[in-house]
Amino acid sequence: MSHAEVRGPSVELIKPREECGVVGIFAPGQPVAHLAYLGLYSLQHRGQESAGLAVGNRRSVTVVKEMGLVAQALDERVLAALDGDISIGHTRYSTTGSSSWRASQPFYRDVGDLEFALAHNGNLVNTAELARQAGMLPGMIVSDTDLVAELLAQELAASPHSPGREMQEALFEVLPRLEGGFSMVAVDAGHLYAMRDPRGFWPLCLGELDSGGWVVASESPALDVIGARFLREIAPGEMVVIDDSGVASHRPFAGPAPDPALCVFEFVYFSRPDTVLLGANVHRARQNMGEALARQAPVDADMVMPVPESGIPAAEGFARASGIPYRDGLVKNRYIGRTFIAPTPEMRSRAVRMKLNPIRANIEGRRLVVVDDSIVRGTTTRAMVRMLYDSGAAEVHLRISSPPYRWPCFYGMDTGSRSELLAANLDVEAMSEFLGVRSLAFLDREGLLGSIENDGGGFCTACLDGRYPVALPEELGEEIHDRGTEVPVAVGEP
Ligand code: SF4
Repeated sequence: MSHAEVRGPSVELIKPREECGVVGIFAPGQPVAHLAYLGLYSLQHRGQESAGLAVGNRRSVTVVKEMGLVAQALDERVLAALDGDISIGHTRYSTTGSSSWRASQPFYRDVGDLEFALAHNGNLVNTAELARQAGMLPGMIVSDTDLVAELLAQELAASPHSPGREMQEALFEVLPRLEGGFSMVAVDAGHLYAMRDPRGFWPLCLGELDSGGWVVASESPALDVIGARFLREIAPGEMVVIDDSGVASHRPFAGPAPDPALCVFEFVYFSRPDTVLLGANVHRARQNMGEALARQAPVDADMVMPVPESGIPAAEGFARASGIPYRDGLVKNRYIGRTFIAPTPEMRSRAVRMKLNPIRANIEGRRLVVVDDSIVRGTTTRAMVRMLYDSGAAEVHLRISSPPYRWPCFYGMDTGSRSELLAANLDVEAMSEFLGVRSLAFLDREGLLGSIENDGGGFCTACLDGRYPVALPEELGEEIHDRGTEVPVAVGEP
């Protein structure tokens, strides 16, 4: 985490938290605020702390943002007042910066008669250096996105005006200085901008509206919801500028392109199952992971059940490959937000029960294969296992459809620190003991990558193998001191 980190109230970290979702629309002559709202709504899973829109009307840019879910932050009264045909939107989970209105996005700046707004999915690793360049003290920085907006504003203020090109030129100056993961969208009075870092850690795709116009979004289902046709992904290291003359593609980063490194957890957990990334369907990939897991770590059992909802496709795949019947064993309360705050240990143990409740009739007397997609701290998993035994399970065998999560993410995902990651501190045998399961197995890295039917690109797997694609500054070194150690991924009786 960067020095700009200021944490909000502590929340129970059950899964790695999604970074953020972004959307952008350029639709000449059409009011776009409602369309951007729909796009954000479909990206709600990527961040539930705050939501915001910026709308450009060829003269000025207006920003509205509020804490809460998209439907809480942006109501009809707000949307009706947003007049303009260019928009960007953002739904946020904080990975740096505080969980507060001040840190919500988009960020706005005006420099003379030029106004712009910027929204960002990802995390920069060189914020200390960028803050120095911007002349900002650590206490002045709201988030890394605020820092980028400030650098752009300074660049605009320093450069002579050449109408229509100022923002593009400022982006050409600032983007190469950023290190880390970013998919960004920006709007000024007449343009929509969309850019990805050179490795393309976070997804961003481009679509076309039948009514005339263009849409960019973190995930392809946002295009479907808005009514746009998927055209292509924005390439790692590409900057797209959209205006009345159409879509122009630029390469602001000098030198040879580095190997692409899309976050592999987009396939394991983060993206919607209906998302298509690198030509691969996410739901299909998750089913393949379950099948591969069944082949790698078979088990003699009576029933395969998912930890709902994230474990469902992998459990389906495991059941199909193993021939063991698939049944539901847990019911999830869908109305508990992912940021449910449990202030005391007593409340925390009840919180698990509030989220997941066992179906005793399916569990009693059975040997269970329980399939989930990942383990972060393990406290919830342990409580869930106890609940299954309390409900009469004869055996609980846990199968995880990704490798052990052992190193923290610095590129835009909140995994907590290394000390909080179960697999960073215990080997698989000790984890199995801690969780109270009869056997425990993780899908290995090759099985994970082999399950994704991608037609190109490459993946970041740093939190699984400690190989960080973008060098980390020294102050983060402590967190990753023993990276690269290989560990076994299965233990227990088959
Ligand atoms: S470190 Fe892990 S969570 Fe972060 S970008 Fe890489 S694969 Fe994704």
